[in-house]
Amino acid sequence: MYGWSGQVLRVDLSRGSIAKEPLRADWARDYVGGRGVGSKYLYEMMDPTIDPFAPDNPLIFATGPLTGTNASCGARYMVITKGPLTNCITTSNSGGHWGPELRFAGYDLVIVEGRATRPCYLWIYDDQVEIRDASRLWGKGVWATEDEVRTELGVPDAVVASIGPAGENLVRFAAIMNDKHRAAGRSGVGAVMGAKQLKAIAVRGTGAVSVADSRGFMEAMWAMKAKLKASPVTGQGLPTYGTAVLVNVINEHGMHPTRNWREGQFEGADALSGETITETRLVANKACFACTIACGRVTKLPEDAAAKFTVTMHPRNWRIAGEGPEYESGWALGSNCGISDLDGVLKANYLCNDLGMDPITMGGTVAAAMEMYEKGILSLKETGMPLEFGSAEALISMVERTAYRNGFGNELAEGSKRLCDKFGRPEFAMVSKGQEFPAYDPRGAQGMGLGYATSNRGGCHLKSYTISPEILGIPHKMDPTAVEGKAEITKLFQDVTSVVDASGLCIFPTFAIGLEDILPLLVTATGIPYTLESLLLAGERIWNLERIWNFRAGITGKDDALPKRLVAEPIPAGPMKGKVNRLAEMLPEYYRLRGWTADGRPTDEKLTELGLPALDAQAFRERRDRAMVRVEQEEGSTPQEIAEAIEKAFGAEGYVCRVAAAHDRARIDATSPDAASVTVTAERLADRHVGPSLVLPRSRLVVEVGAAERAACEKVVKLIEVALLRGGG
Ligand code: SF4
Repeated sequence: MYGWSGQVLRVDLSRGSIAKEPLRADWARDYVGGRGVGSKYLYEMMDPTIDPFAPDNPLIFATGPLTGTNASCGARYMVITKGPLTNCITTSNSGGHWGPELRFAGYDLVIVEGRATRPCYLWIYDDQVEIRDASRLWGKGVWATEDEVRTELGVPDAVVASIGPAGENLVRFAAIMNDKHRAAGRSGVGAVMGAKQLKAIAVRGTGAVSVADSRGFMEAMWAMKAKLKASPVTGQGLPTYGTAVLVNVINEHGMHPTRNWREGQFEGADALSGETITETRLVANKACFACTIACGRVTKLPEDAAAKFTVTMHPRNWRIAGEGPEYESGWALGSNCGISDLDGVLKANYLCNDLGMDPITMGGTVAAAMEMYEKGILSLKETGMPLEFGSAEALISMVERTAYRNGFGNELAEGSKRLCDKFGRPEFAMVSKGQEFPAYDPRGAQGMGLGYATSNRGGCHLKSYTISPEILGIPHKMDPTAVEGKAEITKLFQDVTSVVDASGLCIFPTFAIGLEDILPLLVTATGIPYTLESLLLAGERIWNLERIWNFRAGITGKDDALPKRLVAEPIPAGPMKGKVNRLAEMLPEYYRLRGWTADGRPTDEKLTELGLPALDAQAFRERRDRAMVRVEQEEGSTPQEIAEAIEKAFGAEGYVCRVAAAHDRARIDATSPDAASVTVTAERLADRHVGPSLVLPRSRLVVEVGAAERAACEKVVKLIEVALLRGGG
């Protein structure tokens, strides 16, 4: 394969097994890669109704065909799993160097299943893969973990993705960090990793990414770079000031959420702006792999600022240099908590990175708690310290307590929705589908509200950034206060962003380039004759696949909602004074354009058009239940009896199934999930070619096939898969 590495690494921590298998070429073509292919694997592998912390929730790391190429910003990997913050499918991505390194090691995806019995980490060095003990790393912050893993391995240029104490303690918004400061931050992917007792994945690769047409690829890449350089956003604004360049822009538009979204302008915004950070705290710009924008900020606190804040449990964190804040993290920890102390915000941001937490949800949850404290719903009895808007000391203390679930931190670790529900004031949680919003008040930009409400992973700006047309005028200016045209632009941005996320590119180049510029990169990299139409269709397919995954998890059109504050409480002052978000006016048109029913349900016709299975959640459950019945009926059977049953079903195809010798001792045991598996080998008698191994745990079935056997056994694998989906019929 060109573009893709063509190989998936599958690790089952319960069984301690490591297997490699070919990437499904048809899925790669139809879902492109990254978020798309990862979502497809997740969709096919899991029951969406299970607990996100269950061993059966797969944790998928997926790169795209442009990850690790020299296309500018081809640095991303995506983490796909069921998010513990939202119970939605989540697709959380990160830059830096980890994704490219995985490609150099020869893999498109790493799929982690099961749960280890003790802390471990994964070491991938090209073909060599091993699960190693991480007991001595457990409890350590991200920065120390990265350094110690590299030292232990004796490979100083290994790239490490890891979790901090927050992930270990199942904080529902724990992040997976790499390159110390780059985060797959949202929805709690780090807590899923912690639930698996997986501390880190270290990667070193010595290979390269092959493209189908290297000359054509270089031409497309140079054309892209020229546009990035010429754009005022990617050529000047982001390199000079980082993403925090938006602080003053959004504040001046009156839609910079302040003090838990009660106001749209923050009087202390300038102190947190990209301009101020650049003038007073910036050490250097920092770029992800192959990026020519370099929006990353290496920052440093003044020497005396380190002593300003009390950090009791994590004294090692009296560090004074780190990265960030980005626009979103600086706002969440700053303006949204009424804090204009830049050093306090920097310190809280460094802590979030080292402890491994999403600063957006962290800040949003503290802000909700501050509002409840102000209103007397929370008191010192619960919080343990004054929790007033504007207090950097309180913020920093709460960040640390949250990571360790210490005191009131145990409540904050659940995120703002669960916190506000618990204390009887759900209206103070500024979330959609349980996830905190980023830094744009949709009362001042109508399209952002529609994007937040319909996002498949909950409140998010990265899946439909209509701030581009509504505020920045890219690619054309739209009136931010109007609802006309917002359904159409939101659908378009969601579909295009799905392709960008699948490609392996960062989203920021889209300030300067469009899908028409990404198209030649994908065509020349993969050799697949994609067109603009087929890529848009792929984006729509990815969006709908995530949507039906959510439906099957019980998250439906009723969850496409915004909090009352945003639709019923007008912004009190500033340029957007009097505005509310008019979601109810946009949603019907959006559903119509999507080809969904009036209550937001994808129709069978639309799904068929996209090559997706018809959505019938009930039928899906019944099919699964029948499959379960089939397995459960086998409980108590000997492995040999199961093998004989499968052989009977497929005997007509010339295959027999027999129990692999190494697993003769296995027996289905209804009371022990870990022991309840049996491996059966299918064998074609005609040429004695050993076929697929079937692993039958209690709650699922996985078909594992070695690369060499795959072609010969494809047919029987398909038959078995189909039979199980149909409940053995
Ligand atoms: S624009 Fe920023 S986030 Fe995107 S790849 Fe470049 S440095 Fe990384």
